[in-house]
Amino acid sequence: AGLLPFEHEPYFNFAERNVAEQQREAFKLVRQKYVGQTFPLIIGGKKVDGDGTFAVHNPAKPAEVVWQFQKATPKQLEEAIADAQAAFEGWRYSDPMQRASIFKRAADLLRKRRMEFNAVMTLENGKNWAEADGEVAESVDHFEVFARETLRWAAGKPVYPMPDEHVTTIYEPLGVVACISPWNFPSAIPLGMALGAIAAGNTVIWKPASETPLSSYLMVELLFEAGLPKNVIQFVTGTDDVLGDPLVDHKDIRMIAFTGSKEIGCRIFERAAKVQKGQKWLKRVIAEMGGKDPTIVCADADLDEAAAGIVASSFGYSGQKCSACSRVIAEESIYDELLQKVTEQTDRLKVGQPEDNAQVGPVIHAGSAGRIGEYVQRGQQSARLVCGGGATDNFVEPTIFADVEKGDPLFQEEIFGPVLAFTKAKDWQHAIELANDSEYGLTAAFYSRDPHKIAEARRRIHVGNLYINRKCTGALSGTHAFGGYGMSGTNAKVGGPDYLFWFLQTKTIAQKY
Ligand code: GLU
Repeated sequence: AGLLPFEHEPYFNFAERNVAEQQREAFKLVRQKYVGQTFPLIIGGKKVDGDGTFAVHNPAKPAEVVWQFQKATPKQLEEAIADAQAAFEGWRYSDPMQRASIFKRAADLLRKRRMEFNAVMTLENGKNWAEADGEVAESVDHFEVFARETLRWAAGKPVYPMPDEHVTTIYEPLGVVACISPWNFPSAIPLGMALGAIAAGNTVIWKPASETPLSSYLMVELLFEAGLPKNVIQFVTGTDDVLGDPLVDHKDIRMIAFTGSKEIGCRIFERAAKVQKGQKWLKRVIAEMGGKDPTIVCADADLDEAAAGIVASSFGYSGQKCSACSRVIAEESIYDELLQKVTEQTDRLKVGQPEDNAQVGPVIHAGSAGRIGEYVQRGQQSARLVCGGGATDNFVEPTIFADVEKGDPLFQEEIFGPVLAFTKAKDWQHAIELANDSEYGLTAAFYSRDPHKIAEARRRIHVGNLYINRKCTGALSGTHAFGGYGMSGTNAKVGGPDYLFWFLQTKTIAQKY
């Protein structure tokens, strides 16, 4: 109530010639404006150099260095944290309306530059146009949603009244929040975490993935242009020996917001539990980690719809999303037919350059291609390869294995690439059981038109994001609060109605007059 109406940012239709032409022009602009440049750290509102630089590569042309970033020193990390702490003393009391206006203005600024941001992302993380556009549109949504959320939480919550006391429940910020983010969503993921922190009145140490720092850097600059006081975000890039454990362990860090692998998420969770000398709080950690997301297809489902959803969610951005479908669990009676439909559509996917908007592009780097290749090699001993299986440089073919058993690593482990496992279920109840046979619980899709089966699926499928009769990727900010169960993380649910609570502490004030 009382909030401005909201609509999700519409996507560009690149099938229209003039829209495609504008995107091509944006690539030219970005190549002129940014390629070959070196970008600074931003500490205390100042752009500074670190101790040497590192190169960012175009995953689609691994020999091409697109830009360089600075390596922060341990001393610079100290300065950044000290400055963020000093800035907190002001920002914590900032007017929520001021924060909301900054976010609204940032949304407008980003709308005007969407194609430029798309192009930067494509050059550093290999997303094709639509994938990059989806993410930049999500970033606009984040600004709009967090503008409203900051006002909503500032209002406090009602309590049961007392006759002789005036009692209020209000929410206050925590302090300095370290935001540590992955390369697969280099704009929307760090932005979601940082806006959560800032909207609540905290200050931020923003540490982007080293593969994709420019998508983050431009977002930070955009926020400053929109009016965010410059020391509310400290932007640091560099090596893990400086910005990994030392950042997490630091006594003045109040909270860590992390998205990335299970391995690193668990490490952060453990390390943050230790109270350091001089530390005056228990650190809070939110972590969004991996997924092994199933699509369950019942015998009564529309198989064409299911097949289209499976192909899009398994192979979009080469399967490099925590939300990507990586297991199909289908009822025996339609298993072969579904497998055939999915295989046919997958065979038609064209692998190529993301800058030319190919349907399937590269994986992030050679290390990742190698790791995926090992799964594909081993998979051929335990399951039936029905599609793909090859790779050239960073380009891994969309790959499907059939008849995968539930104990198989193809069924249990997050591969983070374009590799899909098909598993046969005796019936739909068995399919749900198999879907739940995972340490993860991020997303799942369930295809059936039977109200009884759908009701059971809603009750029994153990995930944070359950999608019925639609694909399991593409959560929208403000609507599909995103975050999982089990080893998928702390279930903080970015973009949801309770997200800001994670960045706040609650004060109860009882007053007699
Ligand atoms: N929010 C994204 C989606 O729903 C996934 C984010 C991720 O991969 O971490 O597809």
